[in-house]
Amino acid sequence: MRIVMIGSGYVGLVSGACFADFGHDVVCVDKDAAKIMKLKAGGIPIYEPGLEDLVSKNVAAGRLSFTTELAAPVAAADVVFIGVGTPSRRGDGHADLSYVYAAAREIAGALHGFTVIVTKSTVPVGTGDEVERIIREVNPVAEFAVASNPEFLREGAAIEDFKRPDRIVIGIEDERARGPMEEVYRPLYLNKAPVLFTRRRTSELIKYAANAFLAMKITFINEIADLCEKVGADVQDISRGIGLDNRIGSKFLHAGPGYGGSCFPKDTLALMKTAQDHESPVRLIEATVAINDRRKRAMARKVLNALDGDVRGKTIGVLGLTFKPNTDDMRDAPSLSIIQALQDAGATVRAYDPEGMEAAATMLTGVEYGRSAYDVAEGASAVVLVTEWDAFRALDFKRLKEVMAEPVLVDLRNVYPPKQMEALGIRYSSVGRPSDS
Ligand code: NAD
Repeated sequence: MRIVMIGSGYVGLVSGACFADFGHDVVCVDKDAAKIMKLKAGGIPIYEPGLEDLVSKNVAAGRLSFTTELAAPVAAADVVFIGVGTPSRRGDGHADLSYVYAAAREIAGALHGFTVIVTKSTVPVGTGDEVERIIREVNPVAEFAVASNPEFLREGAAIEDFKRPDRIVIGIEDERARGPMEEVYRPLYLNKAPVLFTRRRTSELIKYAANAFLAMKITFINEIADLCEKVGADVQDISRGIGLDNRIGSKFLHAGPGYGGSCFPKDTLALMKTAQDHESPVRLIEATVAINDRRKRAMARKVLNALDGDVRGKTIGVLGLTFKPNTDDMRDAPSLSIIQALQDAGATVRAYDPEGMEAAATMLTGVEYGRSAYDVAEGASAVVLVTEWDAFRALDFKRLKEVMAEPVLVDLRNVYPPKQMEALGIRYSSVGRPSDS
């Protein structure tokens, strides 16, 4: 299959490289000339484990290439994926579809022969209809079908997720799209990945329903964690106790500082807006969004509480900035709100993250960056563990205590056992766990 991927970000680049690895001929397109230049020079513009090897292997095999010009590859393509960004629209929280529609317009002018155009970006229900309308308007004689194929990969484990998905969802309105889409994913049939063919609008909504459900699950356990702190129960045991029930499942039941990242915040908001527009409000998701928004800043209060209510003039060390480990993605990371709240309370913040500091520096002001956990702990009155990178899972507490002004650790990811911390002489607080657990 000849495949074109429009947009070479986290989703486009990973999907493109994986499709090439399946044996397809893939051209990844991006408007960002610097990104394409870097890729052509053998570099990778994002941090994603395993991606560099996968890209270089497939480039060397002649199956994967990069360009800023979509016309020639689109004319030769069997299937064109749209994997551009769909951020929250400033002001109202609807998904900003301008990149998707711009891509559709450009694709339309370049089509040659029957082509399937697929939205891989997360797009609100009905977007496929509009993409189809735009293409027909720009190129009335084009032979094409528009399909929806939302992506479910997780950053940090993106290649594994793409190659071993729990399911592949494909929404079609035109039967001519079925064959090419089956062909694109045929290598995954060997992994017995279930393929769900459905209508286009249903497919679009599946993606939002999935993300909203997961965001709700995280928010649920976070509220239970708050209750645990009030009543002296342990949220870790509660997660285990309910997660062993197959109807509930153990994933996404880790209490923490609230969900963030490039998908959950914008997708829950976009679903909420779509539902309101159709006078069918999703009240559970409205509550989820409101609770999670409050939670991120409220985590700073845990730090204040650990320091007798006052951080003014004190230095706080922050471990981890990205919204989760193994990515450099800083979009909507809880660290942003937590650090802002600490600064508002008068603290000086020093931070370290294995991959996220470059992006963080463009989003935060007044933060000092260190070279390691111990570096940012130097002279700090408290250290806050915000993202559970492996590098923070086996800290040398003797060393940490030696360099800190006060031995205070606020662990927002429940990485360490409270009893062990007490034995080490660390003043420790975490999320939803009593101090003797
Ligand atoms: P991203 O910002 O990393 O990448 C988008 C890329 O598209 C950018 O490089 C941008 O330059 C490029 N682009 C924009 N308009 C273009 C055009 N007209 N032609 C060519 N290139 C263009 O975004 P992402 O994280 O890869 O997300 C893309 C989509 O996938 C979003 O809808 C997102 O919700 C969805 N998604 C993301 C994830 C994830 O974990 N990041 C997971 C599942 C789904």
